[in-house]
Amino acid sequence: MNARPNEEAHEEPPAGGAPARRDELALLRLLADTVPVAIAYYEAAGVTCRMANRRYAEMFGFAHEREIIGRPLHEIIGAPATALIEPHRKRVVEERVSVIYEREVTGADGERRNVEVRLLPHAGETGASVGAFVQIADITHHRRAEAALRESEERLAKFMHASDEGIVFHKGGYITDVNPPLLNLLGYTLAEMLGRLTLEFIAPEAQQKVAEVMAAAPDTRYDSVAMHKDGTRIPVQFIVRTMHHQGELQRLTIVRDLRDRLEAERRIQHLAHHDALTGLPNRLAFGERLERRLEQARASGESLALMFIDLDHFKRINDSLGHAVGDTLLKTVAARITDALRVGDLVGRFGGDEFLVLLAPRAGAPAVGEVAARLLAAIAEPLQAAGGVAISVTPSIGVAMFPADGATPAELIQHADQAMYRAKSGGRARCRFFEAGMAEAALAELALESRLALAVKQDEFVLHFQPQVALAWPGAGGAAAAGGEGEVLGVEALVRWVHPQRGLLPPDEFIPLAEARRLIVPIGAWVLRHALAAAVRWRDEFGRRFPVAVNLAMQQFQTPGFVDSVAEALHAAGADGSMLELEMTERVLIADLREVRAALERLAAMGVRLTVDDFGTGYTSLRHLKDLPLHRLKVDRTFVAGLPDDAGSVAVTRAITQMGHGLALQVVAEGVQSEAQREFVRGIGCDALQGVLLARPMPEAEMTAWLRRRLAGAASGDE
Ligand code: C2E
Ligand code: MG
Ligand code: MG
Repeated sequence: MNARPNEEAHEEPPAGGAPARRDELALLRLLADTVPVAIAYYEAAGVTCRMANRRYAEMFGFAHEREIIGRPLHEIIGAPATALIEPHRKRVVEERVSVIYEREVTGADGERRNVEVRLLPHAGETGASVGAFVQIADITHHRRAEAALRESEERLAKFMHASDEGIVFHKGGYITDVNPPLLNLLGYTLAEMLGRLTLEFIAPEAQQKVAEVMAAAPDTRYDSVAMHKDGTRIPVQFIVRTMHHQGELQRLTIVRDLRDRLEAERRIQHLAHHDALTGLPNRLAFGERLERRLEQARASGESLALMFIDLDHFKRINDSLGHAVGDTLLKTVAARITDALRVGDLVGRFGGDEFLVLLAPRAGAPAVGEVAARLLAAIAEPLQAAGGVAISVTPSIGVAMFPADGATPAELIQHADQAMYRAKSGGRARCRFFEAGMAEAALAELALESRLALAVKQDEFVLHFQPQVALAWPGAGGAAAAGGEGEVLGVEALVRWVHPQRGLLPPDEFIPLAEARRLIVPIGAWVLRHALAAAVRWRDEFGRRFPVAVNLAMQQFQTPGFVDSVAEALHAAGADGSMLELEMTERVLIADLREVRAALERLAAMGVRLTVDDFGTGYTSLRHLKDLPLHRLKVDRTFVAGLPDDAGSVAVTRAITQMGHGLALQVVAEGVQSEAQREFVRGIGCDALQGVLLARPMPEAEMTAWLRRRLAGAASGDE
């Protein structure tokens, strides 16, 4: 060998040297083949391999170093690789410096390996380069490990950023990394969090538990409370893992914001126990609370009051104004009930338009009565619904006392319900306390209900009639619109049920029932037929017409073919349209304006007079009234009852009369019972009156006799 690989190999091995030298050579060879690097020596001239170990030969696909010694570089490592490393080779030879570079080598097995190549110059005695040593270390594993680490770091970074959940790394309790979602959640910047104690971001009450978990260092998950920078407590779940991160064992905690989940759970809980519309406890929840309150009251010996509140005619509002208005009304009523109560009272929605109220102990029935009065007033307060329509409902309230009227929730509710039922049949818009015997009355009501269907079949109704006469009002030159003072303008037909056991029942006791059971349509047809028959008999007897007024229920009016059925009834009775007047409440008229108008126009065309009954109690729907072919308004008898002393009644009656005249309608005062009332309604310009002052409703024979007397009196000049 001409070159010197190192200081030890300084002297040339003489060819065919002594046995000691040969041993030394063999040892060297052994050494060369044992080192974990591939080594070779190339002669500068010709770039030929002079020496190589086994590993080097194998690296380039040769079985033995003998196969490469004496060969030029490009034959060993290939032409492309030779070209690739040429700049390095040149530097080593020309500048005589060591060079280190990395490259990939594809081994005989086809596998690519990363190698680190070190070239060391070998200078001859003259100082010129005579060759170069090559050392090649396989760094594939190292590079792969590095790549793997880099990849996993990248993956982790990506994951930390992509995650919606907060992630924090901490070591020994100090924060080493935080992802943006967690910064967001807590309101800090990365700089503000790095290096700080994790516990600083935990709510004080939750710190002990967090410290314990950190000390024990298990992989676990638990709920805790984090603190936002602004001091807000945030319920969170921690999922804690131990992880290698940035070359160290660290704790990774996933921070899950529980607010949405807790909110959802709270909502589900709420929905199960509350009525979605009003937000009040529902029947179930109210029942549970009632049960608990009764237990407490039983222990303390206190007495409680349970109220059953049902809205009057709520169905009409839903039917005529739509469910959206109905919903608004229910919400408003719920709020008003709540506002009228004290802390400690309970409110719930029982269903539909029914509410339950449990009053905390108060000093006896008078105090409970006061609350009921307050509720009655608060609920009845008019409400502006969509479209500017003012609506109002009244409640009927029933009260049952604990323990006097019932020991269990079911019993109390049932008795309050029965009392409410009595409040309804007593005329609505009022409160009744439960009394023993109400149950029987309620049963009777039920019996009535089942009896009513039979009554329709068996013709158990009669009509009573009540006359209306003209009023001459001062300053108008007599009752110009209606007729001469005292002139009989017509007769109202009022139905009664001749109940086989209970005798004559007034309409208020069965008409609501008939409406609920859809029996009002056949009853109404019966009334129309018999009223017209009476009108025809009077015409025949007196030789003039006394129009008969018939009350219409909403359902009748809404029945398809209603107008035709009226025409048929007129025809069948041998009457003409001018002998009939139809009375309907504002509620009937408010329904669907176009349909209502079409029907009314057909009726008006037949000569039928159309009257708005009970005016002032329903919805103010002036716009509607103006567009309809109406003839008369009847001021509701509750206003007339307040005349002449009650200021509210005075104002309402006067306003209705003026408004009616403004719309060119006749105004009739109904329920006139006294001279004072008659003088008052005459004074404000009402056109006609009806009421017991003139005559009570009476059977047909009496009515006929009354008419006879009246006509005879008129003929003889006295009233
Ligand atoms: P309404 O149409 O307003 O009838 C007038 C009511 O006032 C009648 O009650 C009558 O008896 C009562 N009344 C008459 N004069 C006076 C008085 O001076 N003072 C007072 N306070 N009241 C007086 P009634 O007969 O009990 O009828 C009650 C309601 O039942 C009627 O009110 C009407 O809405 C309804 N109704 C009566 N008959 C029928 C019918 O055939 N069909 C329908 N759908 N409803 C009817
Ligand atoms: Mg009427
Ligand atoms: Mg009326």
